[in-house]
Amino acid sequence: MLTKKEYREAQIKAAEMIRKSGIIITEEEAEKIEVVDFGLSYLEKEGIQVLTLAATKRISVKILVLFSNQTEPEHWHPSIGDDPGKEETIRVIGGLLRFYISGDDNFSQGFIPESKEFYTLRHEIIMKAGDQITLEPGTKHWFQAGDEGAVMYSFSTCSRDALDKFTNPNIKRITKII
Ligand code: ZN
Repeated sequence: MLTKKEYREAQIKAAEMIRKSGIIITEEEAEKIEVVDFGLSYLEKEGIQVLTLAATKRISVKILVLFSNQTEPEHWHPSIGDDPGKEETIRVIGGLLRFYISGDDNFSQGFIPESKEFYTLRHEIIMKAGDQITLEPGTKHWFQAGDEGAVMYSFSTCSRDALDKFTNPNIKRITKII
């Protein structure tokens, strides 16, 4: 859970980082930035900030912000009914991103958050502005920002965040605000 004040401060910080990366957003959009602590209540370690620019039954466009050394926990986008699950391209706009998928263990620049057992992937891809990666539906992944944080675009098929699957069973995708 997050207090209203923590939520608002994170929104302001995320909006500043988005604007600094060169993306223009309106004040109305800045106020809609979703702050996600995954129900873990240590936002600065594991969490993400999300601004949804478009979401229809078929596509989704988001701006993702990670603060300095903040980690998006390991997860995947499962199939739902006839839909094979979310296919997603993540493109870095600013900062440095350490991206983890399955593959040989070349882990070197990142760090594993305290809840170690919930991070199983060790294949590291270092991404800077202009780099992008496309994930097939069902592909497990997690990612982490460098010291400066990171701003990314996420282009995908229909996203159903509430149905995403996380390695950590304690995660709740909806942030509780108190
Ligand atoms: Zn994902």
